[in-house]
Amino acid sequence: MAELRRDPISGRWVVIAAERAQRARQHGAANHSTPAEPCPFCAGNEALTPPEVWAARASNTEANQPGWRVRVVTNKYPALDCHSRSPDGADRFYQTRAGLGVHEVIVECPDHVTNMAELGDDQVADIVRAYRERLAVLRQDPRWRYFLIYKNQGDRAGATFEHLHSQLVALPGVPRDARDEIAGAKGHFAATGRCIYCEMIERELADGKRIVFVHDQFIALCPFAPRFSYETWILPKDHAAVFENSAPRELGQCAVALRETIRRLNRALDNPPFNYFIHSLPADGSLPQSYHWHLEILPQIFRAAGFELGTGANINGVTPEAAAELLRDVAL
Ligand SMILES: [Zn+2]
Ligand SMILES: [Zn+2]
Ligand SMILES: [Zn+2]
Repeated sequence: MAELRRDPISGRWVVIAAERAQRARQHGAANHSTPAEPCPFCAGNEALTPPEVWAARASNTEANQPGWRVRVVTNKYPALDCHSRSPDGADRFYQTRAGLGVHEVIVECPDHVTNMAELGDDQVADIVRAYRERLAVLRQDPRWRYFLIYKNQGDRAGATFEHLHSQLVALPGVPRDARDEIAGAKGHFAATGRCIYCEMIERELADGKRIVFVHDQFIALCPFAPRFSYETWILPKDHAAVFENSAPRELGQCAVALRETIRRLNRALDNPPFNYFIHSLPADGSLPQSYHWHLEILPQIFRAAGFELGTGANINGVTPEAAAELLRDVAL
């Protein structure tokens, strides 16, 4: 059962989830289409996962049977779960909390595919729709304030299973990094009356040197101060605070932009491991005018080392201008 512990010095909260150490790891199959051991995410192996909570599936097929295109299940080894109880023995110095939350896995395809760029636009659109459907349901639950969709692709990016999947967590509070970002956007809005992301998009479009591509509804750019080499953000061009409120056409366009970004990263950097996540407005009363949802893709080419871990600041050896130029010009 997960537990949150607060470091009494920095005030930073840590999730202690000892059960997760028992997770099986499954990697390194020589041939993508034949995993080394039964893969719980492949169609036909539905019994190896907890029951599905949502699926995009053919209308004549039954839950937890083949026939699905995207399948969402509860995480078998959750970092957080909704049954956690407050741990005993906490005091004012060493504070603890129940590790309450929801932790789900979005299985992105029925076949054993390990690189998202191998999926078609329609398949990626199904995945993005699964994100929206689950987030829209969880947002109705008053216990949860913050929602994060994230993906780890590649061993070095922390993926436990190579079969394409992403994850979703719903949390009772807003975590520190998200709070900093939301506070920064809110401060800018209070000072200028403008959404800082809308202003950033305007500046980047005018300048052009950090733009990777511009589509009808989405823009991909390398941010001015990236933490990671080739870090790329995808944003809706028009102001929108909540990802889950996106219309079906927008979700389709988002999928096209996401797939194109991954294809460009793959071509330019030879299939790098990466993480991505969606930052959307929390359900905590934050101002929708001040925040703008976006997807951040962070290639994991260099490992965080002593400087990063000791200072909390990143050293990035590639300018975002050079990164954008490479990603923009690479032949697809
Ligand atoms: Zn598989
Ligand atoms: Zn905006
Ligand atoms: Zn963000």
